[in-house]
Amino acid sequence: QAKRDGRAHYQYFSPEMNVEMLERMHLEQRLRKAVKQSEFYLEYQPVIDMHSGEVTSVEALVRWQDPDYGVISPQAFIPIAEEAGLIEPLGEWILQQALSDLAQWHAQGLMLKMAINVSARQCIHSRDISFFDILKQTLAKHDIAAENLHIEITESMLIEDKPQCLQTLESIKQLGVDIYLDDFGTGYSALSYLTQCPISVIKIDKSFIDNALDNPSDAKLIKAIVMMAQSLEMPLVAEGVETVEQWHFLRNLGCDYAQGYLMSKPLAKAELVEFLRHAKPFQYLEIGTELSAV
Ligand code: C2E
Ligand code: MG
Ligand code: MG
Ligand code: MG
Repeated sequence: QAKRDGRAHYQYFSPEMNVEMLERMHLEQRLRKAVKQSEFYLEYQPVIDMHSGEVTSVEALVRWQDPDYGVISPQAFIPIAEEAGLIEPLGEWILQQALSDLAQWHAQGLMLKMAINVSARQCIHSRDISFFDILKQTLAKHDIAAENLHIEITESMLIEDKPQCLQTLESIKQLGVDIYLDDFGTGYSALSYLTQCPISVIKIDKSFIDNALDNPSDAKLIKAIVMMAQSLEMPLVAEGVETVEQWHFLRNLGCDYAQGYLMSKPLAKAELVEFLRHAKPFQYLEIGTELSAV
């Protein structure tokens, strides 16, 4: 019996554990402490222009390094941070860190753009300072032109139907920071949002890409999304491209940008710099037309 408890205990603390199994209060408490002590770091995933094969931007992705549990995925803690009212300080830390890194890269001559994920809650400010002001101030602090940053929001932000949210997005767009619609196709928002909200670029969710080559109906959906984006004159990013076949399929359809393990996983700051110094334009692009999967 004691042994079984011991094993259970060990599993509880193993880095591979499912964070959902943790007691909610406990996790929230730890998260609160983590935000105070900045137990986070960012990884950056390159986004590649499918036409030139060049890295054009990186997406900042947050990780929580808990001293006991190891690295915890944002999918596990971002929703808790949102509910616990911790996403505002955390989001501010992310913005600071990401733009400070970007400024360093620019100083080194690496002229990248950066994407930052933003939760709906960050835009519906209950505080004395708005997300827009924080964004503007942080850009100024690091002397970064707004054109070098874009933010990624999900359809849920549009569904919430908070006028304040839309207003914030409008101001952000006017500042020169483009807004990308993340995980497109997984939400429930009306398509009319695409033209009513200041969205510049659509990111097709990984779940469609996963099955693009095995599932004809997913392939058709992707084709429809590409056609829609083209008629709206909105560039498309494909998320979660893992195989050369997926790359060719998407490129031949007319997708503009790709992000995925095929090109690169999210990288630590130092790894990214190495990656960029040695990266040549992705070669397998050149044979794309011959391998058309459509
Ligand atoms: P997302 O913004 O859609 O980010 C893409 C996710 O797909 C990332 O997961 C990335 O590592 C993963 N990914 C990219 N390419 C591939 C691939 O080829 N194969 C596979 N299996 N996965 C791939 P990650 O880093 O775990 O982030 C998950 C989600 O957490 C993000 O989805 C985003 O919604 C949220 N998130 C991450 N960082 C932040 C942040 O700084 N702020 C906010 N508010 N949310 C964040
Ligand atoms: Mg994203
Ligand atoms: Mg996404
Ligand atoms: Mg996602």
